[in-house]
Amino acid sequence: MAAKIIDGKQVAADMRAELKAEVAELKEKGIVPGLGVILVGEDPASKSYVTAKERACEDLGIYSDDNRLSADISQEELMQKVKDMNNDPKINGILVQLPLPRHLNEAEVLLSIDPNKDVDGFHPMNVGKMVVGEEGFLPCTPHGVIQLLIRSGVKIEGANVVIVGRSNIVGKPLANMLIQKNAKGNATVTVCHTRTKDLANQTRRADILIAAAGRPNTITADMVKEGVVVIDVGVNRVEDATKKKGYRLVGDVDFEAVKEKAALITPVPGGVGPMTITMLLYNTVESAKRAAGLVSEK
Ligand code: NAP
Repeated sequence: MAAKIIDGKQVAADMRAELKAEVAELKEKGIVPGLGVILVGEDPASKSYVTAKERACEDLGIYSDDNRLSADISQEELMQKVKDMNNDPKINGILVQLPLPRHLNEAEVLLSIDPNKDVDGFHPMNVGKMVVGEEGFLPCTPHGVIQLLIRSGVKIEGANVVIVGRSNIVGKPLANMLIQKNAKGNATVTVCHTRTKDLANQTRRADILIAAAGRPNTITADMVKEGVVVIDVGVNRVEDATKKKGYRLVGDVDFEAVKEKAALITPVPGGVGPMTITMLLYNTVESAKRAAGLVSEK
């Protein structure tokens, strides 16, 4: 039987509607969540990501402080900009759009963000808190994956989860979050990578399979069991002469074949993608609540 499709656009829209209502309630208490955005240079992809984030803020009623900085900005000037945002009470979250131009030290800039405003969840302080299960900011894409599972009614507790990919932004944080002893975790997790022996042998054991390898067709139908839940994080361009742009986007999973065996599956595009910005907005609202001394949801 063909799988039910997990509609990431719908789940993201539901979460944004909830956040919008929450922002309206906060406004009645005089609290306006604010996101400070820094974009250095003219990279078209980065520009379009930043524009999407600013539009999403506007839609939800989140204040956004938009800083488009020249590509030749010095390290000192950029660090000063971050420092100003760290000290600005109107700003609850700081987003530095990556990649930065090559003359800038990315790690130093990210480390200079106040961990209490690190809504991307990449600061080592927040990574450490995630690992030990303390309240911090969870990174957006992995947290979006977990929200997709929870909101699709998938039981994570006790499930055999197999993650393909061990990057610092997807695979490792996901594994950490899913083994926590809490409502979003309690899974038994296997993390696979390019040195894994017999990948199919691992993926066939999965109740929940998360593909984050960045390669099309990494997961084929013979590599999954009947009834598996598949979350495809991958976003890959493949040539397609029938498309205006000359390419189309696909995930890491052979969607058409795997959906015939899976119980639930995310499409690409329209699966994990829409969740990432949503979780950034979620973290910004959380940050504003914490700054105002309101109890935050864990
Ligand atoms: P990455 O840094 O390139 O990491 C890829 C990981 O997959 C590595 O750990 C690599 O193993 C492993 N891998 C690659 N090919 C494999 C194979 N054939 N078998 C087993 N493991 C394999 O990528 P990433 O940044 O985590 O991103 C992964 C994908 O998710 C990309 O397509 C990216 O565009 C997408 N993504 C989407 C979103 C979103 O919002 N939807 C956000 C972030 C990323 P090694 O460690 O051994 O090299």
